Amino acid sequence: MRAGGLAVAMAGVLLLGLTACGADDTGSAAGSVAGLPITHFQSGLRANAPAPNLDVENASDDEADKLATSTIADVEDYWSKQLPDDFGVAFEPVSSLLSYESNGENQQNGCGNTRKNVNAFYCGADDSVAWDRGVLLPTMIQQFGPLSVVTVLAHEFGHAVQFRLGAKAGITRSTPTIVKEQQADCFAGSYYRWVVEGNSKYFTVSTAEGLNAALSSLFLVRDSAGTSAEDRQAHGTAFDRLFAFQLGFEKGPKDCAAITMDNIKPRLVERPFDPADKNEGTIDIDDQTVGLLKESLDAAFAGAKAPAPEIVDGGGTCQGGPATPPASYCPSDNTVNIDLNTLAELGRPVDQSGEFTGQSNGGFGDFAALSEIASRYALAIQKGVGASLDNANAGLRTACLVGAWAAAANNLQDTKLRLSAGDLDEAISDLLRPDSLVAADVNGKRVDAGFTRVEAMRTGYLQGSTPCTKQYG
Ligand SMILES: [Zn+2]
Repeated sequence: MRAGGLAVAMAGVLLLGLTACGADDTGSAAGSVAGLPITHFQSGLRANAPAPNLDVENASDDEADKLATSTIADVEDYWSKQLPDDFGVAFEPVSSLLSYESNGENQQNGCGNTRKNVNAFYCGADDSVAWDRGVLLPTMIQQFGPLSVVTVLAHEFGHAVQFRLGAKAGITRSTPTIVKEQQADCFAGSYYRWVVEGNSKYFTVSTAEGLNAALSSLFLVRDSAGTSAEDRQAHGTAFDRLFAFQLGFEKGPKDCAAITMDNIKPRLVERPFDPADKNEGTIDIDDQTVGLLKESLDAAFAGAKAPAPEIVDGGGTCQGGPATPPASYCPSDNTVNIDLNTLAELGRPVDQSGEFTGQSNGGFGDFAALSEIASRYALAIQKGVGASLDNANAGLRTACLVGAWAAAANNLQDTKLRLSAGDLDEAISDLLRPDSLVAADVNGKRVDAGFTRVEAMRTGYLQGSTPCTKQYG
């Protein structure tokens, strides 16, 4: 975030089309993940999974290799049917597979030496997939469990699929990296749906905790804030990457192959820092910032004609009402009660490299903290227009409205709070936390599927507030 100068551009004020809608609170959106039920069970390798019949150079018998090899066998099962069915292309397995230790003995493939290469990658030069079982995979397994390996390698295999599709995926020598990466994330998402639907011999994935682990793994490998989408190495922000994964999950591989620079440009949020972004767009969460937030929210939601709540620093719970610290919406006196100290702690800058090793000293970023407050504010607006506050739809509507506000904030006249590069990823990292308020109802209850929560915020961000009430009626 930054506290910029007053906007001089014509304002694109968010005109909220919120309507009272008590009658239809049973829409399917809240209870589903892209049309599938929300499920809870242990995700990962099946107890009765077959031993993959694949040659892997330099393989060990450790868990990382077992998961990686099973993933390759599984994605090959998936694509051996999908490539002919969807594209009329015969399936060919990749030419070779290589397991290596980035901190151990050097190995080589068509893309060179593996020493110090903490990575997993598809190498087009010799049509191979390679992975670091020394550092990368164990680090990810430790943080997000076995599905992190599945997510990363399904993405890498997505590049092999792209290589096979060539012109059918619109790929030429000049295709920008970001397009190839978006397609690979999307292909990984389409494979995941097939697994979730129970088609995999190797893996089983629940739509709540299972997909949450997959999305969190993808979040971890996002680009640093301030990267340009035109960067030759650009893979996308978490917002961009999750969009592509979810597109594949919802629509399937044909929509992935149809991704081009032209059709993703309007929705990509990856951009360099603005010269006005001091400290990489980081501001402290203090009284002054909360004041700017209030101004921004008041302006954004003015069109709803609902009484704006006051934001008070009083411990984060309501007297005799909802207690969802560090921020609560108190319907009885129309206030948002916050615990500013705790929110300031939550809103400290992200430590992306520490986050990768699981030893982060950072917080979730300023926008995570502000989104938490904004979510409680959005409940006040919903109350003001007669919407329900205490069910799953209310939670998703809230996330959607936070997204709509985030999109509108930079165009509001006479307000100073501006989003900076990386802010949306901070909202996503907050949404993926198990105790996030951004998609929670007035009592702090939220839909268990992070997939659905992220989708709700993105819907508001990309489409404005109108679908918030329509979709999450
Ligand atoms: Zn990639």
